[in-house]
Amino acid sequence: MIGKKIKKGDVGRFLSSLAGEYTVIGPVKHGSVFMFAEIDDEHPPVLDYPRTVLPVKKYLHPPRETMFEFRKGEFREMLPESRLAFFGLHICDINAIVRLDMAMASDPYYSARRGGMLIMGVECKPSEECFCKSMNADRLPHGVCDLFFREEGDGYIVYAGTEKGRKLLGSPLFHATDLAVTGISAECEEKKPLDYEKVWRSFARNHTNPLWDEMARLCLGCTNCTTVCPLCYCYDVADTSEVVPENSRRERFWDSCTLLNFATVAGGHKFRPNIKDRFRNIYTHKFKSFVDEFGLPACVGCGRCIVYCPAGINMRANLEKLEVG
Ligand code: SF4
Ligand code: SF4
Repeated sequence: MIGKKIKKGDVGRFLSSLAGEYTVIGPVKHGSVFMFAEIDDEHPPVLDYPRTVLPVKKYLHPPRETMFEFRKGEFREMLPESRLAFFGLHICDINAIVRLDMAMASDPYYSARRGGMLIMGVECKPSEECFCKSMNADRLPHGVCDLFFREEGDGYIVYAGTEKGRKLLGSPLFHATDLAVTGISAECEEKKPLDYEKVWRSFARNHTNPLWDEMARLCLGCTNCTTVCPLCYCYDVADTSEVVPENSRRERFWDSCTLLNFATVAGGHKFRPNIKDRFRNIYTHKFKSFVDEFGLPACVGCGRCIVYCPAGINMRANLEKLEVG
């Protein structure tokens, strides 16, 4: 890929040029944290950020949405129509979209948003909680990221990874260079990356390992980790009707396997009655079942679950114990 250069001062103009066609979302500062939000003059993107609290999952698979409704007895499916452009995504978050696609591609609400979407990545500065290398998520996936921005002096060198991206580079705001790359990776400093296949194999022998008691001992079942995780996508559905029975709707909303009711079935039986069962389920789904189904873990090592766990539970450290346990 040969990159083109854009001056830092022209990035805002480039993003404004997309605003007619897309809702442009990027990382903005909010108090002491960063979050993905709509970019405008009052909320400019900040590209030098460690990680956002919530990933872009909140747009692709919103915390609450109406799936369909009946109005005066007439059925209407609520398929989303917005076109989203994400700017400033780190390589782990782009890999998370690829893995979310594996699980949710056949979901009509997800794919309606995903279909016309634009992905623009940026180089990251990994922190001590990052373990993308261990999760095979430290390389820019092929053919997914439309444009990737790399800081260079007073501007960015921008590489196109798709046809859509190549067309965007035709804007006069981008200038020719001879800077080429064959692949783009995050500079993750994990000294001894985990082997996720070894972790996957360990589940066959670890189900009754006392390690689970030790690891789950501090877990509050608070749902923080599953909420901030770009690859936790479980939801529940609820039907509501207004006073007149011909007006009703079905909504879905994020759910979490750390909650007791998540695995409660008709008749009141609870399949995972204690916190150890629920804690083990998070890991089993991410590092065993998802790998069985899709060949990769439902984790990209973004570190959010580590940073936002109120009990100080470190998923990477736990995986290290399981790998050898
Ligand atoms: S499990 Fe933790 S580190 Fe892995 S993707 Fe989810 S939030 Fe990030
Ligand atoms: S954030 Fe920490 S305490 Fe809360 S459910 Fe997850 S592992 Fe347990």
